[in-house]
Amino acid sequence: MISPEDALARILSYVEVLPAEEKPLLEALGQVLDEDIAAGFDLPPLDNTAMDGYAVRAADTAGAGRDSPRELSVIGELAAGYQFEGEVTAGAAVRIMTGAPVPAGADAVVPFEETDEPFGKAPERSRKLSATVRVYKEARPGANIRRAGEDLRAGQTVVRKGTVLRPSEIGVIASVGRARVRVIRRPVVAVLSTGDELVAVGGPRSGAHIYDSNAHSVGALVKRYGGVPRLLGIARDTVKALTAKIQRGLDADMLITSAGVSRGDYDVVKDVLAREGEIAFWTVAMKPGKPLAFGSFQKDGRRVPHIGLPGNPVSSMVAFEIFGRPALMKMMGKTDWRRPIVRAIAEDEIANRDDPRVFFARCVVTERDGRRYASLTGSQSSGVLTSMMRANGLTIMPADVDVVRPGDEVDVLMLDWSRGEEWGSYLSEGDGPPGATSP
Ligand code: AMP
Ligand code: MG
Repeated sequence: MISPEDALARILSYVEVLPAEEKPLLEALGQVLDEDIAAGFDLPPLDNTAMDGYAVRAADTAGAGRDSPRELSVIGELAAGYQFEGEVTAGAAVRIMTGAPVPAGADAVVPFEETDEPFGKAPERSRKLSATVRVYKEARPGANIRRAGEDLRAGQTVVRKGTVLRPSEIGVIASVGRARVRVIRRPVVAVLSTGDELVAVGGPRSGAHIYDSNAHSVGALVKRYGGVPRLLGIARDTVKALTAKIQRGLDADMLITSAGVSRGDYDVVKDVLAREGEIAFWTVAMKPGKPLAFGSFQKDGRRVPHIGLPGNPVSSMVAFEIFGRPALMKMMGKTDWRRPIVRAIAEDEIANRDDPRVFFARCVVTERDGRRYASLTGSQSSGVLTSMMRANGLTIMPADVDVVRPGDEVDVLMLDWSRGEEWGSYLSEGDGPPGATSP
């Protein structure tokens, strides 16, 4: 039996970072940038106003107050996207909208609220520009002005090679004008189910047959972690059928099969791997997910890594979380595939007596009064997928711990944080100000 750490290290030593591709910026969300992105100009390009109001010379507002307004003559107005032709001279002001460049001569912007023009006085188009404006508050030089280059400087690298693109990076790259980017390609993952008992979803089922759920749960995990699943269907438990299906999957970047790796008579995945590929079979010291096959096939001079997941629906998901996810992420050029582990107070007894394996028990972590609690989600049988569905995490109960009692602390590997109702949420119904509704 080998440890999960050793198994993962060996798997990772077999998978390589994929080549880069160029694609439209928005489609690159979640992928790893393969170039440095630099700004070609200052951002913002010009000094501009942060408020709707009047561009003035600050000195002209000296001493202004509610009882001592300063009256300035309005010499024009300016919307965002336009530049003022003239200059703001002493005693003059230009009516100006957020984002519009500050006219020459002006060094401050007085917001409408501090003038005799109440905010939103009249519809924009029908309003006549008044000849004068009264300013009720002194403005300091630079007030309400966003400086050219305060966000980015021309020539500056704004997003570095190796960065995982999130919505904010996508926005920053767009702000410097780039429509396409070079990113590490997403891995195409061929997913194959094996077993004479399986039938495809959508069709009829009877007797001892069960629907193939693994292709969907594992395919969904592949998608969640950034890969592109390609379902190969179901292979019968014969070397011939399996070999044929596997051959069809070898133009993918990785092959994932489920089932057929335990000790039963019809567990043919290992036979095919041994005949057609390079193979390792492991019993991994983890529960669930003990039997695992790993190897690779050669196709057109390429080595296609193969992870043979166990067949039980929970085992295949847990083994994918522990081994498949890091492999996928490495292929995508990601270097940090850690995920949150939280300490939680056990609410149930979690027993793993006389078993030298790490126990990944399905649990739900909730937060109450600033403390985290973990409770088991039901049967821990590796065939019971519904208890996986109720879980948001897996306990990491070390091999040498026999039992965790209620009140003891346990580490939990968080799979997702989507059980918002238990976590308390921002601006959800009932949480907002009176009368507020969630979007
Ligand atoms: P095996 O690894 O072939 O011994 O399968 C272990 C258990 O997982 C058996 O009960 C199988 O019926 C079940 N199983 C295998 N493949 C799937 C699948 N694709 N979907 C649902 N259950 C499966
Ligand atoms: Mg089977």
